[in-house]
Amino acid sequence: MKAIVVANWKMNPATFAEAKKLLDETRKAAERCAKVSLTIAPPAIYARDLISGYRGAKVSFALQHARAEAVGAHTGDVSIAQGKDIGITSIIIGHAERRAQGETDVDTRAQVASALAAGMTPILCVGEKSRGDSGEHFEVVRAQLQTGLADAGSKIKKIIVAYEPVWSIGAETAMSPRDMHEMAIFIRKIIIDAHGEVGHAVKIIYGGSVDESNAIIMLKEGDVHGLLIGRASQDSKVFWSLLHAIENA
Ligand code: PEP
Repeated sequence: MKAIVVANWKMNPATFAEAKKLLDETRKAAERCAKVSLTIAPPAIYARDLISGYRGAKVSFALQHARAEAVGAHTGDVSIAQGKDIGITSIIIGHAERRAQGETDVDTRAQVASALAAGMTPILCVGEKSRGDSGEHFEVVRAQLQTGLADAGSKIKKIIVAYEPVWSIGAETAMSPRDMHEMAIFIRKIIIDAHGEVGHAVKIIYGGSVDESNAIIMLKEGDVHGLLIGRASQDSKVFWSLLHAIENA
């Protein structure tokens, strides 16, 4: 099975010309990687022109965030329907940086339902802010999954869950693959308990300080189908090294 790689460019780069160059270089790298399925999430303002200028089939595109409502009085926001209209096929939902600005589990629930209704792939981000010894991080993730996926129904099989412990995003080191493995088992159990056997089809990916040095061990030992990459996807040479590592693992 191909490794799912989601490149979250966040609010980068600063100009459309740089974004076009980054896409072009990333596309060339990705086309040499048969073992990778690549989704790029550029800033929404660049998405339309990047998609219309893209001629290949290797890359698909995501929005980093979008509202569930199709249209409305939501200054500064974009909707899932608007994303669909320009060729977006996946939506990152509930990223920690959105949750930090007030996005709730109830918001993610509506976004997941809206994306599924539109035939798109929701990438639902979950993860605790910090970890103590008493295991309360499992309860945080449980609540995020139970509410976020509550309306998924039989379309649950389209879901990608991105487990991103907040303390490992933009950090110096990633979580250990052993801890990811434990969390992947927990996530799978929560989904199957709520949705039945179809929950086996949900893909689980890991995000948080991944680069070429730790991507392979996370894929091999973390029990994940792929990776969500922030910083390492925003420099084409660094990203190429990561893709190359996956391809040659
Ligand atoms: C992210 O923001 O989702 C992320 C994984 O970032 P980074 O890879 O930079 O830690």
